[in-house]
Amino acid sequence: MKKMLLDDVSVLKGVGKKVKETLAKLHIYTIKDLLEYFPFRYDIAEMKHISEFIHDDIVTVTGKVVYPPTIQYYGRKRSRLRFTIEVDGVALQAVLFNRAFAKKQFTQGKTVTLTGKWDARRLQITVHRYKMGSISADAVIEPVYSVTEGISNYQLRKFIYAALDQFKNEVAEILPPSYLTAYKIPSRRDALEAVHRPKSKEQLKHARRRFTYEEFLLFQLKIQLLKKRQQLRDEQFRQQIDHEKIHSFISSLPFTLTNAQHRALREILRDMEAPIQMNRLLQGDVGSGKTAVAIVCLLATVTASYQGALMVPTEILAEQHYDSICNLLGNRTHIALLTSSVTGKERKAILQGVADGTIDTIIGTHSLIQEDVQFHRLGLIIIDEQHRFGVEQRKQLREKGLHPDVLFMTATPIPRTLAITAFGDMDVSTIDEMPKGRKKVQTFWVKEEMLQRVLTFIEKRIDENEQVYVVSPLIEESDAFDYENALELYNKLSTYFGERIHIGLLHGRLRNDEKEAVMKQFMNNDIQLLVATTVIEVGVNVPNATVMVIFDAERFGLAQLHQLRGRIGRGDKQGYCILIADPKGDTGKERMHIMTKTTDGFHLAEEDLKLRGPGDLFGKKQSGLPNFKVADIVHDYRALETARRDAERIVKNNLFETDATYVHLRKYIEEEAESIHLD
Ligand code: ADP
Ligand code: MG
Repeated sequence: MKKMLLDDVSVLKGVGKKVKETLAKLHIYTIKDLLEYFPFRYDIAEMKHISEFIHDDIVTVTGKVVYPPTIQYYGRKRSRLRFTIEVDGVALQAVLFNRAFAKKQFTQGKTVTLTGKWDARRLQITVHRYKMGSISADAVIEPVYSVTEGISNYQLRKFIYAALDQFKNEVAEILPPSYLTAYKIPSRRDALEAVHRPKSKEQLKHARRRFTYEEFLLFQLKIQLLKKRQQLRDEQFRQQIDHEKIHSFISSLPFTLTNAQHRALREILRDMEAPIQMNRLLQGDVGSGKTAVAIVCLLATVTASYQGALMVPTEILAEQHYDSICNLLGNRTHIALLTSSVTGKERKAILQGVADGTIDTIIGTHSLIQEDVQFHRLGLIIIDEQHRFGVEQRKQLREKGLHPDVLFMTATPIPRTLAITAFGDMDVSTIDEMPKGRKKVQTFWVKEEMLQRVLTFIEKRIDENEQVYVVSPLIEESDAFDYENALELYNKLSTYFGERIHIGLLHGRLRNDEKEAVMKQFMNNDIQLLVATTVIEVGVNVPNATVMVIFDAERFGLAQLHQLRGRIGRGDKQGYCILIADPKGDTGKERMHIMTKTTDGFHLAEEDLKLRGPGDLFGKKQSGLPNFKVADIVHDYRALETARRDAERIVKNNLFETDATYVHLRKYIEEEAESIHLD
């Protein structure tokens, strides 16, 4: 029977029902899965001269047995085997524990290679691994696989080697030959061999380089193909925007748009007018003026006789946006606010208006798409703070049969490498310029011992008629603790300031009308100091607030701290952010330092990515990032860029159809799409 890579693992000797089940836990089902199960690290023992050996290091030597083993038994099954080898004219002692069975092998005159711990005083090596004969390499490299209960690293390696021996010849090249020459990378077959049984560090490096590129290319191809397919070409997505109305609105604004805002706006409106469904991400730092751009877009869709919807993550935000949008748009559109607090007759009337089209601009929370809201002719949906908007919600939108142009907005600046991996299926517009005249928030990092001085500073600012946020420590996954923390802080500060300062408390457990009441008081400066949990992270706008104190700041990600900091310095007064933190590790200290040094969200995001990895940037739950086996999006970003460029070229020029050298790559991708295993 012909050997096939898609054969079940059980074709290998020694893989019975039990082992098969264990391998399934590692998502290994076929020979191909097994061959593509890569080591997560390597133990590398370099071949050095004895004179270079360092006491207690792991070393590897090759020598001749000059004095055969003696065995010493102690206790049941415990033994020590000793023999002498000669290496470069020096006699070394070798010691093996509990491997009495190996005695027969080390006969006089045999050449052996030993790896183990070096004792410089006794000229002795405590052997961990050995191999008969010499090795033709500069290093002994042992792959280490991630395993699970029921299978050891040694066993797994044995199966992989068996698979390599029996099936290696079936491994075909998937990249066009020109790629191998251009990038100087080994063939797929050689690279697989080298990843599992590397003969040298050099060889391993190139094998890994190949798979890094290959993984990125396959990934980029998938999202580029997806993007191409998603771009439904249809006249119904063509919006006839009235540019005159847009211009007159823009000139009526109380400010001039920045160049970056103009550029983003042009990109968005061009998508809306094109016969494709827009799928665009608008990113820009807090306060860079995304919402202003969004409002122009809402008006644009209305001038084209469509409805526009703006979805935000919280009710407070929805209400704030509603107020400011009503202010700016005036009677240019018919605006309604739709949140779960809008009930009864009022709600019915709004739903009716949305359904018959008399309401053309709708501001709301996620409930906008979750509940049974019928739109008359939805042309544009704008989703603010995209990182809180999961894959699930996007799906719901499509399942409602709605295919409006979609604009996602996020204030979490996303480093380019992440943007093209996580959001590769989207077009991206970036506002990388702040409106003129903004003062940069000054950030300080202090330890808790300095609290007294912080409190004095707070009081001084409030005496100047400014306002203050105090953010209580973040307790992830626990609303209850979050609340208790905030309450405790509120009580302490109330005791300290007494009658002198009006303090408010805002947390996630308040009913919406209660939250709103607190926010209103803060906006009206009836509350001067607001103690809050991270509910204030997104969006609220109180220009008179100039100080933000964040307790236990080390618990927050840089992106989140930056987001919080964005709540202040929104007016024309100087803003101050005080981070109270006592991080233990160097990374934590480094992060606090970076916060004090830069107010550039993109820079911070890059740093966060370097310090903490991609998961933390988005929050672990819905990072949406693929798991690469070999590739690392932080370190291998150049390969990622190359792969993206290549994928774009392949898809754009339709090379899968027109160039025969791409046939294997195409087949591979099609097969991958079919053989997705269910967990
Ligand atoms: P974002 O949504 O990116 O956080 P906003 O659109 O809410 O930013 O803008 C923040 C503040 O700056 C708002 O008060 C807004 O009116 C104002 N603003 C927006 N664009 C400009 C601009 N070009 N010049 C001056 N102020 C602006
Ligand atoms: Mg905003």
